[in-house]
Amino acid sequence: MFAWEQRVASFLHAFRLDSIKKRILAFALFATMLPSLTTAWVSYTHNRQSLTQKITAELRNISVHSAREIDLWLKERFYDARVFSRSPVVTENLDRLLRLRSRQASDPQALRRLQDYLTSVRERFTDYVELSVVDSEAGVVASTGDADMPQLPEDWLTRVESGEEIQGLVYRDDILGQVMMVIAVPIRAPDDRFLGAFSAKVNFGTIDESLRNIVIGETGHAYLVRADGTVMVSSRIVSTGLMALALPRGTVEALFAQQEDALEYTDPQGNEVVGTLDAVPQHDWAVVAEISTAEAFVQIAELRNQTLTILIILLLTIGLMAYGLGLTIARPLDRLTAGAGRVAGGDLEVDLPLVTRGELGLMTRVFNDMVTRLRDGRKELERLSATDGLTGLHNRHHLMEACGMEVARSDRQGKPLAAMMIDIDHFKKFNDTYGHQAGDEILTRMGAILGDCIRKVDYAARYGGEEFLILLPRTDLNGAVEVAKRIQARLAEEEMGGEDAITLSIGVAEYPQHGDNADVVIAAADAALYQAKHGGRNRVVRASATKRKSTARRRGKQARKRA
Ligand code: GH3
Ligand code: MG
Ligand code: MG
Repeated sequence: MFAWEQRVASFLHAFRLDSIKKRILAFALFATMLPSLTTAWVSYTHNRQSLTQKITAELRNISVHSAREIDLWLKERFYDARVFSRSPVVTENLDRLLRLRSRQASDPQALRRLQDYLTSVRERFTDYVELSVVDSEAGVVASTGDADMPQLPEDWLTRVESGEEIQGLVYRDDILGQVMMVIAVPIRAPDDRFLGAFSAKVNFGTIDESLRNIVIGETGHAYLVRADGTVMVSSRIVSTGLMALALPRGTVEALFAQQEDALEYTDPQGNEVVGTLDAVPQHDWAVVAEISTAEAFVQIAELRNQTLTILIILLLTIGLMAYGLGLTIARPLDRLTAGAGRVAGGDLEVDLPLVTRGELGLMTRVFNDMVTRLRDGRKELERLSATDGLTGLHNRHHLMEACGMEVARSDRQGKPLAAMMIDIDHFKKFNDTYGHQAGDEILTRMGAILGDCIRKVDYAARYGGEEFLILLPRTDLNGAVEVAKRIQARLAEEEMGGEDAITLSIGVAEYPQHGDNADVVIAAADAALYQAKHGGRNRVVRASATKRKSTARRRGKQARKRA
C-alpha cells in the first residue's frame, strides 16, 4: 500500500469510518454541510451588515432629529427668558423697588405690576411652571410660586451677574410628577446696571410628549440621557423611578464616542438593545434611540431558522440517498464476501444474483464465472477419479462402491445381480509380439465394445491389467452368459489382433446364488474365469455352487417370493 493510502486509511479509521456505507454517508453529509454552512455564513454576515446599516440609519434619524428639536426648544426657552427679563415692566419695576428698598420704602403698586406680569406670562406659556425675579443677593422679589430654585450650580448668581445664562440640572418634581429644569438670565437696567436674575422653572412636558410620539418598531423607544447616564425623559417610561435608572457609564461613554454608528448594549432594564446616541448641542445631554436586538435582527433570526430547516431537510434527504447508495455498493460487496467465504469453505454451489451493473456487476459476474469453473473443474476431477484413463470404463474402486449399492438394491427388489469377470487370453504374448502400444489400443477398443454390449444400468470396469469386471443388475446367470457370448461374438466381428485373434475367457456368477455379499460373488466369478482358462481359454464358464449355496438359495427364494 502507498504511504498516502495508509495515512488516509488510518485517518478514516480514527473516525470509525471503516465501512463503505459509513464513508459515503459521512462524505455526503460533509458535502452538504460545507457549502450550506458557507453560504449561510456569507448570507448571514451580509444580511446582518445591511440590516445594521438600515437600523443605524433609522435610529440615527430619530436621535438626530430629536436632539435638534430639544436644542431648538431649549434655545427658545432662553430666548423667552431673555425677552421677559428685558421687558420694561420687569426692569423698571425692579429698579424702582430696589431703589425704594435701599431707603427702607416700598411701592406695592410696582410690586403688583411685576407680580401680575409674571403671572400673566406663566399663564400664557405652558412650558413654564414658575417664574421668579430675584435681586442680586438672591432674595426673591416676585414669584408665581414659592421660588425654590433646585439643581442650580452654587455660583449661579455670580455667573448670571457676569452675563451668563444659567441652566440647572434636570430633575423630577415628585409633587407635580413632572421633569423640570431651572434656567436663569440676568436682569439689567437700561443703563446696564445689574439688577438681579430672572428665573424660570421649565417643564419638560413638551419634550416628553414629542419623545413619546416617536415610534420605533414595537420594542423601540427614545429617551433623553445626561452625560452621567441618568435617564431624564423617556418615550416609554413615565414612572417616578425613571430618574433612578441610568445607563452604565461605560455604555454612555461608548455611545458618546461612537455617535455615527449603532451600538449593541444592555439597557437599564436589562434588555439587549441596539441604539444610537446624538448629543444635544452645547449641552451635556443626548438623545438615545434604541430597539431590542431581537426585533432589530428578527430577519436574521428568520433567516437562521429557514437556513436550519433547509439544512435539516437537505441532510435528511441527502443522508437517505447516500445511505441507499451505500447499500447498493455494500450489499453486493457483502454478498461477494459471503460467497467467497462459502467457496473458501468448500461449497461450490454459490450463484450470486446480478442486481447491479457497472464495476460491481462485472465483479459479481467474474466471481460467478470463477465459481462455475471451479465447480466444473471439481466435477471433471470427480469423473476422472471414477474413470479408468485408458478404457474410459469405471475404475475398480468406483465399481466396488457401486457393487455395495447394487447388492442392497437387489435385496430390496428380490432380483438377482450377475457378476462377470473377463480376461484377455495370452495378452502378454500379444504385447510381446506387437508392442505395448498396440496392447493399449486393444484395451481401449475393449472398453468401447464392453460399453456397447451392456445396458445403461450395467456397470463395466477395468478390474486390473487386462481384466474387466461387469455388474448386471436384475440379471440371472443365464442372462449373464448371454451377454458374455454377445461380447465374444462382437469381438470376433471386430477381428482384433489380425492373425493372432484376440479372445476372451469369461467367468460368471450370480448374487445371491453364489455368495451372500459382493466380494464372494466376484470371487466365484473369478474362480469360474480360472476354470475357463484351464479349460482351454476363449470360453464362458458359470460359477459352480459354493459352500454357502444353501444359504444363498434360500435368500434368493425369499427375495423372489417378496417380489
Ligand atoms: P493368460 O491367457 O493366462 O491370461 O495369459 P496372459 O499373458 O494374458 O496372462 P498374464 O497375466 O501372464 O499376463 C498379463 C499381461 O497383460 C501382462 C502385461 O503385459 C499385459 N498387460 C497388463 N496391463 C496392460 C496394459 O495396461 N497395457 C498393455 N499393453 N498390456 C498390459
Ligand atoms: Mg490376466
Ligand atoms: Mg490374460
